[in-house]
Amino acid sequence: MRNILTNILDVFFPANCKVCGKKMKIDRKVCFCAECWNSLKTIKEPFCVYCGKQLSMPNEHFCADCTVSRLSFVDNRSAGVYQGVLKEALYEFKYKGKKRLGKYLGEFMAAYLKENGGLEDIDLIIPVPISESKLEKREYNQTEILADYLGKYFEIPVIKDVLIRTKDTLAQYELSREDRFKNVNGAFDIKNPVKIKWACILLVDDLLTSGATADECSKMLLGSGASQIRVFTLARGL
Ligand SMILES: [Zn+2]
Ligand SMILES: [Zn+2]
Repeated sequence: MRNILTNILDVFFPANCKVCGKKMKIDRKVCFCAECWNSLKTIKEPFCVYCGKQLSMPNEHFCADCTVSRLSFVDNRSAGVYQGVLKEALYEFKYKGKKRLGKYLGEFMAAYLKENGGLEDIDLIIPVPISESKLEKREYNQTEILADYLGKYFEIPVIKDVLIRTKDTLAQYELSREDRFKNVNGAFDIKNPVKIKWACILLVDDLLTSGATADECSKMLLGSGASQIRVFTLARGL
């Protein structure tokens, strides 16, 4: 019934694309027009070889933060820069119940890996978990959906019962860089460490900005026997 209604609504009151505002006839669940989707671009060099931050000068290799101190993971790569269509899409996917966007965003991440590599020696994929209360409210962990897509696509096992979130933290975007690291300190725990012994792990998250969350997860995984952590995120904060 709801589908029939939606179809009728689409014909008479087409939904607007969330980015350009253009009327779209079909598929209000996806909420972006084809043109906006096709404008989605992967990150190109120059970016920081460690944390994946987009850099402005062609001969730069490291960002200012990584020249001062390195984080616990080997490197981070992000499929795109956190702006424009990607920023809107992640917002809809994460906070507006547009679970279906996961397939498209997963495709975008897979396309990046196909083009640029990054899965050499990877044994396992682990998504960054969200807290119980967020999961209850959101009904899905957006990062898990992305990790599942990549795992299926590249035939790499996705492990979800090792890295556990033990406490709900404040939203990272509200905090200074220093406070972001303090905020996630102690927020994760490890179960079944035998599953990650000696493993090279691809830690997957939706967004990396300061790298504090990925750093904390990496420390926990390395402390429990993993041999190496590489991080792959949908978007890189500016
Ligand atoms: Zn559009
Ligand atoms: Zn960096």
